[in-house]
Amino acid sequence: MAAEHTACFRVQCRVVRRIPRYLMLSDMIQARDQEKAQGKLVVVSGPSGAGKSTICREVARRLDNAFLSVSVTTRPIGPGEENGREYWFLSREEFHKCIENGTLLEYAEVFGNLYGTPKDKTDEALLAGKIVILEIDIQGGKQVRALYPRAVMVFILPPSAKVLAQRLGHRGRETAEAAARRLGGAGAEIATAWQYYDNMVINDELEQAITEVIQIIEHAPGIGDT
Ligand code: 5GP
Repeated sequence: MAAEHTACFRVQCRVVRRIPRYLMLSDMIQARDQEKAQGKLVVVSGPSGAGKSTICREVARRLDNAFLSVSVTTRPIGPGEENGREYWFLSREEFHKCIENGTLLEYAEVFGNLYGTPKDKTDEALLAGKIVILEIDIQGGKQVRALYPRAVMVFILPPSAKVLAQRLGHRGRETAEAAARRLGGAGAEIATAWQYYDNMVINDELEQAITEVIQIIEHAPGIGDT
């Protein structure tokens, strides 16, 4: 019995060494099966404080068959956050291992911390025909759009710079300095967004913004549609 297990383990190891699982899934999606995958890939970006986390959570809750991706990050865990819920919190070394092993669909450095989307879960969900929602920054959005031209690109805008400053101030999650840095980056981010995001949603009234994002997703093609 023990010998059988060992033999089985050896076979699996040999297979895994020859064709790593992440490569199999990625290749399947990227090359032949991108047309066959029935799912929709939705990228949601926007300046910090625009309300994209709340919108993404609510959209994922209301849509049947939606999967909200959990990213990996090197940023320190914040109060009230849980490992594996908001993010998978990794050391820089662990994050670099993920890059080396090719397990990330995209990654970027945002405000001094690294963030990335795990590839395997996303690919699996797309092949299963799910709506996959990625709440990522604009650098990551550009990478995803290059890989998946049919990705649904949604950018969440605050109604004004003043409201954005107020929201960041009230959030109380980071220091005043970090909040100012995030606010400072918002202008350039919004200017770049016009080039890569087909859908701009102003989050003035939360319920309306959620409804708009749901409508955009419902009317969008799947990644495999022609
Ligand atoms: P926060 O630390 O406030 O949760 O996120 C900071 C920024 O990182 C946000 O703009 C968020 O959208 C972005 N972000 C979160 N996860 C990812 C990811 O997996 N990839 C990229 N490129 N950006 C991410």
